[in-house]
Amino acid sequence: MHDAAETQARAARPIRFDDSVRQPMPPERFDSLSQEILALKRKLNAVILAHNYQVPEIQDVADFVGDSLGLAQQAAKTEASVIVFCGVHFMAETAKILNPKKTVILPDRDAGCSLEESCPAAKLKALQDTNPNFWTIAYINCSAEVKALADVIVTSGNAVKIVNAAPKDRDLLFVPDENLGAWVMEQTKRPMTLWKGNCYVHVEWTHAALTRIRQKYPNAPIVAHPECPKAVRMLADEVCSTEKMVAYCRQSPAREIVIATEAGMLHRLEKECPGKIFIPAPTDKCACNECRFMKMNTLEKLHDCMLNLSPQVELPAALLERARLPIERMLEISARPVDNAG
Ligand code: SF4
Repeated sequence: MHDAAETQARAARPIRFDDSVRQPMPPERFDSLSQEILALKRKLNAVILAHNYQVPEIQDVADFVGDSLGLAQQAAKTEASVIVFCGVHFMAETAKILNPKKTVILPDRDAGCSLEESCPAAKLKALQDTNPNFWTIAYINCSAEVKALADVIVTSGNAVKIVNAAPKDRDLLFVPDENLGAWVMEQTKRPMTLWKGNCYVHVEWTHAALTRIRQKYPNAPIVAHPECPKAVRMLADEVCSTEKMVAYCRQSPAREIVIATEAGMLHRLEKECPGKIFIPAPTDKCACNECRFMKMNTLEKLHDCMLNLSPQVELPAALLERARLPIERMLEISARPVDNAG
């Protein structure tokens, strides 16, 4: 049994990052920095968008916290002059592609992604050249250059809908996440050629580790992200994007729920589903479940990037234009009613 004190203790638990232990920011430091960030936000007419995997203090000062789809939708409709993007580099690029005339800044330019790295544009182009009938579906976790080579972009929240809407006479090529691609194939029954890339965080979960946590918490449903390997997805009670995890956990009658995705998600779930206990799914190697790229952003770096309006995302005009088409196609298909998506 868990009580309120235990929930509180969990919320205050130290968060592991690499070999060091990252402690929550002292409240007085958080208060002064967040006040300065709010003042800068007013001065710049800025909006702060933060991914679900960001550190808790960044999530707490953001105007919007969400998954890649939600963040792209927010970026597409914002009237702010400056977009402050707290996530990894390809996400800030996506915001710039959707808002070429706006200033887009990010706390750390070096915040990359193993999926993005796995798919260089030149290698993708070489594969595309082997089959002119390919229809290229790119997971949003890729560079602007790869987006520019794609026919449509997907996120984990809309991939099934978008693959269902893909032209029936084309050969589908899915890049760069082989696990998400395999899960989408299972859902849609559309065969696809899969790029051999993966998220280095989500492939750490194994069947054995999930089986152990299931034995420890037999009544807790397991919720996993589709970037997890098939052996893990098969054990999960629900496989979904981080945004859909919030809805699933809110409506679930279970008090304890095991979560197999990046650790930043626990903060959002604890805020949005009070009274529930979220158990981070263990891995065989690392106990932190953290993405080292996502965790490069800190509240201090967020403050500094707003103060200095740097680093900014800059992309050539032709690339911006070409990469915008598949993202806009995604947003359009995503907004269609379900029975009209095909
Ligand atoms: S969690 Fe995985 S997919 Fe997301 S940014 Fe980190 S490496 Fe990339």
